[in-house]
Amino acid sequence: MTTTGQPQADCLFCKIVSGEVPATVVRETETTVAFRDINPQAPTHVLVIPKVHHRDAAALAAADPQIVADLLVEAGKVAADDKVDATGYRVVFNTGTGAGQTVFHAHAHVLGGRGLNWPPG
Ligand code: 5GP
Ligand code: ZN
Repeated sequence: MTTTGQPQADCLFCKIVSGEVPATVVRETETTVAFRDINPQAPTHVLVIPKVHHRDAAALAAADPQIVADLLVEAGKVAADDKVDATGYRVVFNTGTGAGQTVFHAHAHVLGGRGLNWPPG
């Protein structure tokens, strides 16, 4: 739950950034990594994460707003790469346990390839 920007030893996504935990990486930049969700909820379900550790999107935005922009640019590229940009896709930042956040390293879900109801559950 720490917002330091420093790698956290007990953080799963920091371990994916370092390569200690394997993932199916689809894109990488100087500041971000995008990889397929292990439990996909749609044909395209990719997580785009900052390489730096912050507990959620708001904390990341407060500390380094440029990296939030980087995440959204990458989310759009993931959608284009998976060819779901024309049909529509959703970018979600679950924030807090009540909203379903289970990994407390900021991440954007990119979901597409099927109909997406609104409002979401
Ligand atoms: P949250 O629930 O925090 O919004 O999203 C965390 C996401 O991380 C979940 O969709 C979950 O399926 C995914 N996830 C959890 N552990 C792993 C893992 O080890 N590898 C990958 N690729 N995804 C994971
Ligand atoms: Zn982390």
